[in-house]
Amino acid sequence: MKQIIHGITWMLGQGLDCNVYIIESKGKSLMIDSGLGARMTFGFGDQKSSIKILENAIINRKINQIFLTHGHIDHVGGIMALQSKLDLDVITSEIEAQHLKSGDSSYIEPFMASKCSPIDISQEVFEGDVLHVGNFSFRVLHTPGHTHGSISLWDEKNQILISGDTVFPQGSFGRTDLHTGNSKDLVESLRRLSELDINVLLPGHMPPVISTSGSPLNSVKQSFQNARMMLTHY
Ligand SMILES: [Zn+2]
Repeated sequence: MKQIIHGITWMLGQGLDCNVYIIESKGKSLMIDSGLGARMTFGFGDQKSSIKILENAIINRKINQIFLTHGHIDHVGGIMALQSKLDLDVITSEIEAQHLKSGDSSYIEPFMASKCSPIDISQEVFEGDVLHVGNFSFRVLHTPGHTHGSISLWDEKNQILISGDTVFPQGSFGRTDLHTGNSKDLVESLRRLSELDINVLLPGHMPPVISTSGSPLNSVKQSFQNARMMLTHY
């Protein structure tokens, strides 16, 4: 695990796996997303070791809550595999929770169509809710488009955006062709995110962007412009 800024570490998703972040402050902690877990990785990476790294991180750092940005397998597989072994509160949007609680395989894992175990959700969040982790306060932004219940988390004071699969660095953005994806919604969500004064961008895939090494805000603005051109043709 690598430190990004004080209080935030991450594990880069290998291949198609997602990034996992750990926020720690004043004795509180929150994990963001959980990777593929023990699932197939389409030939990428070594999942047996990555699930062990995840499990060790949760135990050693005494993490007792995890936030899922949305319900796709590359973000929830880890918790699907570990939930029965560990005492973890799982938090996600009210919309994504409906799919996860029922183990909705066609939603969670559209490519493999293998059976998904239901995930117990401890807390369902809505637009405007705030998650406090010591010095960090993350406001829940409902940013649909990649999926209908996708969430971004925005810490205004620390200018940190956790963007799940809505926006990626280098002008990229989440796909909209999977179940409940919607191009118009995605463009609107990107417009909203491009208006935030972002200093640290923590995307679901690809390395984070921090203002000392790049421009997170320009990166999000570029994603918005690209998506607007490619998805709505105006
Ligand atoms: Zn996704």
